[in-house]
Amino acid sequence: MNKYSLSIAIDGTTGDGIKACLWAGAQMDEMHTAMVFDRVAVKPDEFGGSETVGSLFWMGSNPWLKVNLNGERFINESAPYDYVLNAALTQPHHTIVDIWDADYASYMEQFDIHGCARVYPFENGAPTNMTLETVMGINEGLLAEGYIVQADTIEELAQGLGIPAENLKKTVERQNENFDNQVDPDFGKEDFRLSAIRTPPFYGVRTSGYMLCTLDGITINEDFQAVNADGEAIDGLYVAGVDSGSYYAGTYPNMSTGNCCGRSVTFARMIGKALAQK
Ligand SMILES: Cc1cc2nc3c(=O)[nH]c(=O)nc-3n(C[C@H](O)[C@H](O)[C@H](O)COP(=O)(O)OP(=O)(O)OC[C@H]3O[C@@H](n4cnc5c(N)ncnc54)[C@H](O)[C@@H]3O)c2cc1C
Repeated sequence: MNKYSLSIAIDGTTGDGIKACLWAGAQMDEMHTAMVFDRVAVKPDEFGGSETVGSLFWMGSNPWLKVNLNGERFINESAPYDYVLNAALTQPHHTIVDIWDADYASYMEQFDIHGCARVYPFENGAPTNMTLETVMGINEGLLAEGYIVQADTIEELAQGLGIPAENLKKTVERQNENFDNQVDPDFGKEDFRLSAIRTPPFYGVRTSGYMLCTLDGITINEDFQAVNADGEAIDGLYVAGVDSGSYYAGTYPNMSTGNCCGRSVTFARMIGKALAQK
């Protein structure tokens, strides 16, 4: 986890429930899972990683042009949040640079993002975690604090971000060509997730990840009972919610919004109903 900058684990989450189960002979998932988000800004002279705290950059989980520190694309930016961070681990200093232009608000509507990264109301009218105004306010703060770089030309932007100007110019030209053709032959990004970088001022920020929590837990059977090292149910010990395991493996599938909360309440209700019948 030392490749990510920020941890926003909530105070007091010390794993009491998981520990209690382990003391009773239960087992922990063999495959561990962390929930990480590509939403941390670091300064233009910094790299992502535990030695850099960074600052919250909510817009990061949008499919902006994302380049490595060589100014080159390396992923379909439309991938789930943690895929982008996993891909960044293979890039120089595991640090991503997001690039956008003055039309970014309309692109965010066009991107039709799922889940908590969305800033325009959902189709069913449900509100979003953050509004566009809030996100713009965060960006203004990051600009004032020297995280976000603003420039009138791509060369100046590259200079401010500490990446090779010629490479970034080439990448931006290709991005604009893909936008005009509404197809991304390089990484297969969907047409509605493409954006041009033509309207100044141009913006960029170096980014990293933050960790919210772990998602692995106590190994359970199909009746939600904790099992021991031999896979046998531990009598009377049922586990639901985020203390339970046997569900996620390695990644948090953020495209399926609400499944963490959803499985918690659904499986807990199923346990309650089953126990009520005993
Ligand atoms: C910032 C944030 C954003 C999230 N966003 C989403 C999302 O967009 N979609 C989604 O599906 N899920 C989301 N989740 C996850 C979702 O909130 C959890 O899946 C859900 O709350 C888990 O429920 P739970 O009952 O297992 O645990 P919790 O809701 O954490 O309940 C555990 C309870 O146990 C109590 N407790 C702890 N220790 C002890 C102790 N020793 N003795 C007695 N009581 C104790 C705690 O006080 C708490 O009341 C998010 C979580 C966070 C923190």
